[in-house]
Amino acid sequence: MIMWHRKQTDARKLFDVPATKVGEFRLLFKTDGPSSELQARFDAEARLLREGRRMYERGYLRNWRESGGTYQADAVPNGEMEASATVRTRMGKIAGMACTCTPGEALRCVHICAVCFRLFYRERYCSALHRKTIVPYEASGMVNRYLGNRLGTYIRDEETAYETAIGLEHIIGVDDERQYERWLEGTHFIHSMGNCLPSVEETTDMDTDHWPDPDAPDLTADLPHGWFTLLEGMYGKCQDKEKMARLYALYIARGELPEDARYVDRLRWMLSTVKLNDGNAELLQATLRQLMAKPRVKYSYDIDGPQPNNAYECLLREYGTQEAIDDYCGIIEKSADEFTHA
Ligand SMILES: [Zn+2]
Repeated sequence: MIMWHRKQTDARKLFDVPATKVGEFRLLFKTDGPSSELQARFDAEARLLREGRRMYERGYLRNWRESGGTYQADAVPNGEMEASATVRTRMGKIAGMACTCTPGEALRCVHICAVCFRLFYRERYCSALHRKTIVPYEASGMVNRYLGNRLGTYIRDEETAYETAIGLEHIIGVDDERQYERWLEGTHFIHSMGNCLPSVEETTDMDTDHWPDPDAPDLTADLPHGWFTLLEGMYGKCQDKEKMARLYALYIARGELPEDARYVDRLRWMLSTVKLNDGNAELLQATLRQLMAKPRVKYSYDIDGPQPNNAYECLLREYGTQEAIDDYCGIIEKSADEFTHA
C-alpha cells in the first residue's frame, strides 16, 4: 500500500529541468555556489556520478517501467528497497525528474543519477536506434591506452585487431568450444600461467576508479577483466558481435565483479533487432540458452562452496526460466546450509 502511494506521488510531482540531451545528463547534477567552494562542489558532483553509475552497473535498478517517454525504476541496493526514481524525456531530452527519497525538493540524488546512467548507456549501445548493429567499443579506449603507455604500440586497423584477437584467444584458451565451456564453468587452468604482461598500476582510468581494483596486481589493475579486456578491445575494433556476445556471456557467468551485471543490458542492447534477418534475436536466444544450461555460480579461493553471482542473478530476473531459477536458488541455498552447519 505504501508503494502505491509513492508511485502516485512521483507521477504528480515531477520537477521540470532544463531540457538536456541524455548524453549530457551530467550537466543536470552540477550545483551553483561561491567560487571558493568550487573544488568541493566538483568533488561532490564526481562522487554522485560515481555512486549513480555504481548503482546502475551493479543492477540495483529494478522494475524498470517506461511509457510515453517517462522512465521509472526502483532502487534496490543489496535487496533493500531504497527509493523509486522517475525521469521524463521530451523529444529525446531529459525534461523532468523526481525521486521518493527527496519528495518536494530539487533533485540531485543517486537514484535519479542511476536512471540517467541507464538511459545514457542505452543510447550509446542500443542497436535498434541505428541502422546497423552497434558493437560496444567501451573497452577499446582503455586497451589503446594500455597498449600505448605500456607497450608503445597500438592497433592500427581491423586487420591488426583481428590477428591480435586470434593470438589472444589462443593464449587465454578460448579458441575452441570445450575450452570456452570450461571458462563459463570456472574449471579452466589459466591461473597456472600467471599474468605475464607488464604491471600497469599507475594509470587507473579516472572515470572508473571503483573498478578495476587499484590494489590488484598487473593487468587487472588497469583492465577490469585483464586479458579478456584486451580481447574485448580487439572485438570492438572488428565490430564482431558474435565474439563479443560470447565474451559478455562469460563476464555474466563468471561475475567476478558486482559491476558485471551491466553486461546483461549490453548484451541485450547490442543484440536488439535492427532489421529482420540480422541474426541478433537468434544469437541472443542461443547465448541465453547456454548461460541457463547450468547455474552460473561464483567460486572463490577463499570461501568454500558456490557463492551468489550478482550478474547472473540480474540475468535470471530478466530472462530466467523457472527451471534455471530453481536450479540456481537450490545450489545457493544448499551451499549456505552446508556452510552454516560446517
Ligand atoms: Zn533518490
